[in-house]
Amino acid sequence: MGKKYIFISGGVCSSLGKGIATASLGSLLEARGIKIAIIKIDPYINVTAGSMNPFQHGEVYVTDDGAETDLDLGNYARFTVAPLDRRNSITTGQIYLDVIEGERQGRYLGETVQIIPHITDCIIDHIREVGGAEVEMVLVEIGGTVGDIESFPFIEATRQMIQENPKQVLSIHLTLVPQIANAEIKTKPTQHSVKELREIGVQPDILICRVPHILPLELRKKIALFTNVSVEDVISDPDVQETIYEVPLIFHQQHLDSIVLNKFGLPIPAINISNWEKIVHIQQSSTREVVIAIVGKYIDHSDSYKSVEESLGHGALASKAHLKLIRIESNKLEGSHNCAEVFQDCTAIILPGGFGARGVEGMINTVQYAREHNIPFFGICMGMQIMATEFARNVLGLKNANSIEVEKDCKYPTTTLVAERKELPLKGDMRLGREAITVDRDTLLYEIYQTREIEERHRHRYEIVLEYVPQFAQKGMIVSARSKGEHLVEALEWKGHPWGIGIQFHPEFLSSPQLPHPLFRSFIAQALHIQDTQSRTLPHSLSTKPDAVSASLA
Ligand code: GLN
Repeated sequence: MGKKYIFISGGVCSSLGKGIATASLGSLLEARGIKIAIIKIDPYINVTAGSMNPFQHGEVYVTDDGAETDLDLGNYARFTVAPLDRRNSITTGQIYLDVIEGERQGRYLGETVQIIPHITDCIIDHIREVGGAEVEMVLVEIGGTVGDIESFPFIEATRQMIQENPKQVLSIHLTLVPQIANAEIKTKPTQHSVKELREIGVQPDILICRVPHILPLELRKKIALFTNVSVEDVISDPDVQETIYEVPLIFHQQHLDSIVLNKFGLPIPAINISNWEKIVHIQQSSTREVVIAIVGKYIDHSDSYKSVEESLGHGALASKAHLKLIRIESNKLEGSHNCAEVFQDCTAIILPGGFGARGVEGMINTVQYAREHNIPFFGICMGMQIMATEFARNVLGLKNANSIEVEKDCKYPTTTLVAERKELPLKGDMRLGREAITVDRDTLLYEIYQTREIEERHRHRYEIVLEYVPQFAQKGMIVSARSKGEHLVEALEWKGHPWGIGIQFHPEFLSSPQLPHPLFRSFIAQALHIQDTQSRTLPHSLSTKPDAVSASLA
């Protein structure tokens, strides 16, 4: 029968939550037992998201196979179980690179290579490559806004796929329906956006409208009339109060999933969305709150730590609590130690990954404060490397110890380049993707994972130097996990501290509301324990076997 394709384009402006909408529709289709795949198209010329500034584009999401992709893949991973690898992220850069390399190798001998048909054909080939034979539907989210020069070839590819096989391809357009100062709701921007899409030859089948509240029928009728879409196919995507995990339920109430199946002429299987209902219920009914400080250099841009923040939320969900995040710019903690004041309202501190030297001294002060004051501390990637630097300086007395990422010719370097290990299969000079790790027994980490063999994703250029490891251990900071067979330091922990763990890998890419990652569950559980008992000494029961939502959220 062939795969069905659902293209999701955006209109009026960016940042309307197209990724969440796409992921939510995907989750509903899965809840009806349909096997899906999801692709994100990014119309920029960068080949991957790896080199882009988190200030502009938010977090870089890393797949098992080590692709550095757009953060929307993280949304897909949190809402669905659709497998994701490097093929699920397509950029203009990849497409042009493929076409130009092909041209050099003689793929188009005698032809004039053009946007149509060569670039568009290449886009279609890349899209068709995704998903094995078991995949029934492929959702394709087109980044950017209709009318942008950059996204034109992708919309044109959509048009061609619809033209070729109208019964197998749907177009969903997501736009903004703003409310202006006098509280009037305006449909004109949506009308114009659809007009723009139709000019390129694509008539949307379904409209999803970002609105403050569910649209009244009158306005849906008006939008339908001006856009040539049936009124029942005009769906509201309202602002949610409590949690983004409510969006699948809101779409389902408006029958989005059955509308899609009907349009493809498919039967409508029974749906099971009790997991989402459970999650939303916990969020709406819980009265507990856990207050966590997140310290970073890209903190002004909340999307820079998207997966970390979401994973903390999953940890809170597992403890039936609300997460309150206090975001702290690390360079505000430099110079004089004002940590006591800055952290006075939070129970635990997380220091996520980062690159470069800016803000590092503030991070070192943060780690020292957490270690000395028995505050649960979770360092991820650069966060763990900072733990090594802090300990070397303040406990081993190695003045000005530093990562060579921060100070190249440092007298007491706490890190070295992973590229110096010739045996490692690196991508460029970075260690990227899922790798096996061995956890030591008698460690907090082992208590949390309940197993010695784990696999986690990586994205780093530096590793901890092994020279100081015996001295670290003597003074109370142990290595609790190493890369399997290679002995790279994968985790550090403070002995006798209520919860002090640093890890080289990125557990935030493997956490979802349905299956909160054990590290985040344990970290939040310990923070809540401290909040409840006002005692900073006893590690709470830390074993958090990763079981399914039915058990973890029961
Ligand atoms: N900049 C550090 C490195 O390259 C940490 C990377 C990260 O936090 N993702 O090793």
